[in-house]
Amino acid sequence: MRELIDRLRDTGTLSREEWVRLIRGRTPALSDYLFEQARQVRIRHYGHDVYIRGLIEFTNYCKNNCYYCGIQNQNSHIRRYRLTEEDILSCCETGYRLGFRTFVLQGGEDPWFTDERVCHLVRAIRKGWPDCAITLSIGEKSRESYEAFFQAGATRYLLRHETCNADHYRMLHPPELSATHRQACLYTLRDIGYQTGSGFMVGSPGQTPEHLAEDMLFLKKLNPHMVGIGPFIPHHDTIFAKEPAGTLELTLYMLGLLRLMLPKVLLPATTALGTIHPQGRELGILAGANVVMPNLSPEKNRKDYSLYDNKLCSGSEAAECLADLKKRMEKTGYRVVTSRGDSLVS
Ligand code: SAH
Repeated sequence: MRELIDRLRDTGTLSREEWVRLIRGRTPALSDYLFEQARQVRIRHYGHDVYIRGLIEFTNYCKNNCYYCGIQNQNSHIRRYRLTEEDILSCCETGYRLGFRTFVLQGGEDPWFTDERVCHLVRAIRKGWPDCAITLSIGEKSRESYEAFFQAGATRYLLRHETCNADHYRMLHPPELSATHRQACLYTLRDIGYQTGSGFMVGSPGQTPEHLAEDMLFLKKLNPHMVGIGPFIPHHDTIFAKEPAGTLELTLYMLGLLRLMLPKVLLPATTALGTIHPQGRELGILAGANVVMPNLSPEKNRKDYSLYDNKLCSGSEAAECLADLKKRMEKTGYRVVTSRGDSLVS
C-alpha cells in the first residue's frame, strides 16, 4: 500500500480501483506514513502557517431540504434569523481588529437575500475593508448571479459538491437537487475567476469507499483552490438523526490523501472535525490541513445555525475562540498568521 501513497505523492493521480484499495485497506501504520508525507508536502508549500477565515453565518433561512442538514426548510423546530447588513459589517469590524483578512459569508439559500441585496452587502464590505478577501457560500445560483457577486467584489466561493456519485447524491437530497447541477455550478464559478472551494462530507449515510474514490477523481478534475471536508454529524430533527457520525480516523485519512493529490490546495481543518473530537482540528493540521475557520457570527445567533448537533464554539465569542485556537495551533508546532492566505493553485 505504501507504494500507492508514494505514487500519489509523486504523480498526483491514481486510478479508481487504486483509490478504492487505498481507502479500504487503510491501517493505523499506513495512516501515519500518509500523514508524514502530507505534512512534508504542506510544509514545502505553506510552511507552518495556518490561515484563518472569519466565518459569518448570516442567515439560517433556507429554501432547500438537504436531508442531512439541520437548517433545512422543513425543520420547524429551529429559530430562524437573518443578520442585518449592519450586524454583518459589525462582525467584519470585530474580525478585522482580531486579525482576520478573509470574511466568509455563509448561509442557507435564503430568497430574501436577492442578488441585489447580496451585491449591496459585498460592496459595503469591499469598501470598508479593501484589503480583505470576501468569500461567499450561499449555494447554487445562476451564472448571472455569480457574475454579479464577482463584479461586486466577491473573489472566493465555497460550494461543496457533497458527494460526486449521482445515486448517492439522491440519497442525501430531495429530487429537485442534483449532483450534475451542483457540479456545473462549480465549473461556472471557476470559469468566472473565483478562487473556488469544493468538498464533501465524510461518512455521510450510505457512503462507500467507491463513492469516496469518485470524490477524489472529481476533485482532481476540477482542481479547486480549496477543499472543505468534514465528518457527517447527525442532526436530531432530520431523517438521519439515528445515523452514525463520520469518524475522525477516516476524515484525517482523506485530508492526508487530498494534500498529496492537490499539494497546493487550501485545506481547512473544519469545525465539524473539531466537534467530533476535542483535538480534531489540531489532528487535521497534522494530517495536512492548513486553514481554520473560526466563527465571527454574533453570539446570540450561533446556536441557531445548527447544521448538526453539538456544533463547536456555539457559546463563546469570536476573540475567545481565536485565542484558544492560536494556542492550540502553537502547541501543535504551527502558527496562525494574519494574511489573506490566497491559494497557490492557479
Ligand atoms: N447553503 C450553502 C451552505 C451550506 S452549509 C450551500 O449550499 O453550499 C455548509 C456545509 O455544511 C454543507 O456544504 C455541508 O457539507 C455541511 N453540512 C450540512 N449538514 C451537515 C451535517 N449534518 N454534518 C456535517 N456537515 C454538514
